[in-house]
Amino acid sequence: MPRIAYVNGRYLPQSRASVHVEDRGYQFSDSVYEVCIVMDGGYWDLEGHLARLERSLGALKIAAPMDRAALQVVMKEILRRNRLKNALVYMQVTRGVAPRNHSFPPEGTPPSLVVTARRFDIRQSDARAEKGVAVISQPDIRWGRVDIKTTGLLPNALAKQAASEAGAYEALLVRDGHVTECSSSNAWIIDETGALITHPKAEAILGGITRQTVIACAEELQIKVIERPFTLEEAKAAKEAFLTSASSFVMPVISIDGTRIGSGSPGPVARRLREAYKAKAANG
Ligand code: PMP
Repeated sequence: MPRIAYVNGRYLPQSRASVHVEDRGYQFSDSVYEVCIVMDGGYWDLEGHLARLERSLGALKIAAPMDRAALQVVMKEILRRNRLKNALVYMQVTRGVAPRNHSFPPEGTPPSLVVTARRFDIRQSDARAEKGVAVISQPDIRWGRVDIKTTGLLPNALAKQAASEAGAYEALLVRDGHVTECSSSNAWIIDETGALITHPKAEAILGGITRQTVIACAEELQIKVIERPFTLEEAKAAKEAFLTSASSFVMPVISIDGTRIGSGSPGPVARRLREAYKAKAANG
């Protein structure tokens, strides 16, 4: 069965699903996106992802392609048409199609909406989390508004490629000596006292929806959370480290640039938080 994509009002086999060559998403990365996980037919952290999509659109003054209720119909239909119960759903909204010109197109130019879905196997993620992952550091060379979830991801892609070439899972991005986040996830460490430390929400990081839910889990587990920047040296000396994202959940880190973290295997706090996150996300 071919994968089906939603493009501007139509459901098409992915091989025939396309956007215009003058789509501003294609030419200027003038577009925003969301990635959501679906387990047993239910979207995890749905409210958070929809709210962030609306925030990203608002920050760039891109018109919403449809209201929330209509988008949720498309999000349901893409699962049905692809016969998926466990999926990774990708949604992208661009400022639409117009003759190439840096300034915005005329008011009323319709935005483009693309929604795709593919199978997501939680067992692969769980197996990876059992072992923990290696990460490397890379310079954070991104623009100043990475709190907006745009598709302008070239620096992220270059950092992730450097990680892949080094046999690592992710890249910790470092600016002025401090770890901001990772190429496609938020970064966390656990200090000597057992407190969680993660970069505060700011224009320098993407406010992860998983990050937000993990903070709520930590509060329920009475684990202290300190939102402050931390250095690469602090990270390497941390008791534990982990990453969070919609598709990685809570992923324990066992080495940074070849330096072993803690005992060199997934730590107990990261494991607990992974279980707590999964339970909380599954229950809406
Ligand atoms: N930071 C960056 C740069 C990301 O790309 C992502 C994932 N899209 C995240 C953090 C984590 O965000 P979320 O938990 O909402 O997936």
